[in-house]
Amino acid sequence: MRLRFAPSPTGPLHIGGARSALFNYLLAKKTGGKLILRIEDTDLARSSRESEQNIAESLKWLGISWDEGPDVGGPYGPYRQMERLEIYRQYTELLLEKGYAYYCYCSEEELEQERQEALAKGAAVKYSGKCFALTAEERAKLEAEGRKPVIRFHVPPNQEIVLDDLVRGRVVFNSEEIGDFVIVKSDGIPTYNYAVVIDDSLMKISHVIRAEEHLSNTPRQALLYQALGFPMPQFAHISLILGKDHTKMSKRHGATSVVQYKEEGYLPEAVVNFLALLGWAPEGEEEIFSLEKLIVEFSLERVAKNPAVFDLEKLRWINGMYIRGCTIEKLVELALPFLRQAGYVSENPSSEEMKWMELVMTALQERLSTIKEVEEQVKILLGEEVTLENEEAAAVLKEETAPLVIRTFQEKLLALEEITPETVKALLKSLTKELKLGGKLVYMPIRVALTGQMHGPDLYLIIAILGKELVVRRLKNSVV
Ligand code: GLU
Repeated sequence: MRLRFAPSPTGPLHIGGARSALFNYLLAKKTGGKLILRIEDTDLARSSRESEQNIAESLKWLGISWDEGPDVGGPYGPYRQMERLEIYRQYTELLLEKGYAYYCYCSEEELEQERQEALAKGAAVKYSGKCFALTAEERAKLEAEGRKPVIRFHVPPNQEIVLDDLVRGRVVFNSEEIGDFVIVKSDGIPTYNYAVVIDDSLMKISHVIRAEEHLSNTPRQALLYQALGFPMPQFAHISLILGKDHTKMSKRHGATSVVQYKEEGYLPEAVVNFLALLGWAPEGEEEIFSLEKLIVEFSLERVAKNPAVFDLEKLRWINGMYIRGCTIEKLVELALPFLRQAGYVSENPSSEEMKWMELVMTALQERLSTIKEVEEQVKILLGEEVTLENEEAAAVLKEETAPLVIRTFQEKLLALEEITPETVKALLKSLTKELKLGGKLVYMPIRVALTGQMHGPDLYLIIAILGKELVVRRLKNSVV
């Protein structure tokens, strides 16, 4: 199998694009095939190298690699459409020669007038084919007027176009629905529908997995395959991604570009896992899939026709699962840029800061849905201020036994030679034993006195992170 991802570099890699890339990648890997990255940069006004770079970097971040592409080359290059103009030109000549295509000189105003007339008559809006029958003299006259022609494909009348889509099943179109469409613009640059056919053919693409929005383009492309004498690849049009309110996914529903998810502290493994489940349904109940496992399990047969719903809560849940699965070392590495950015550790953290981060990440691992949340959650582990979160917390400190618990705890802590999670853990245990109180009556007043909160990370970790000095100050600040 030869598959491709063919983004237009008109902005950062979008979640929908990433899903298309992923599905193509999975199938290529599963079958021992190849994935080609082709840059469709013919929209000069909107394309940029910056976007191309963002797309490539986002794909790499997700772990999606390609076998051929503008950066790595390959036997069917170049892989940027703007570097292939000469190739398109040769085929255009062929199509013109054989009468499959013709020059059209209609101006925007003329076309608009045609549109209005069709609308007024209640007829389908499509190009009338007015320029198809122009004689050489008529053409010469229009050229002399300085008109710059486009090239249109001559659509054969009343032809049934049957598409056996690997996701949508059989879809039948009729060529009557399609007007003669532009394949080369007046500046000599091919349109998407035209370039895509030549490229997919010459790059020997066997399967095209792409967004459903391109389904309506496919009959045009099918006619071009026919005219050019190229075999058609197999198509799989994957459903739209909708927001939770079942309207098309947009910025209103959350971040739409992959890089934003990176910046918000999502792990690439979690994003990939989540994207795979947008439209693909695994066989069992399991929802956590590494890229390797996806390669084994993925199949187009289990890709649904109906729209996929983008559920941010689910992504957060999946991300949390991956955070739970990380080693502390890895978590520190992931959290470092966020903690640095927030000014909680220095540019080049000392070994002491590294140790502090290890403890912090151990304390927060169970509690994070995104790595970015560390910026907020670490606050209860910093500084000497304590604010009681509610009445309930205040009540804990008013418990009859609370003063004794806190006093004894402080004495024992001050006597402790070395503060580590282990020594603190042992201290709390002996404290409970000594005071002969239920665990809750010991742990809760200390927790609330130290953090102001009823819930939070493991108490022994909080104490180990704060250290003697901050513990003493916090106790003083909260128990007055
Ligand atoms: N450049 C097109 C896009 O980004 C590619 C469509 C296709 O896969 O054929 O939508």
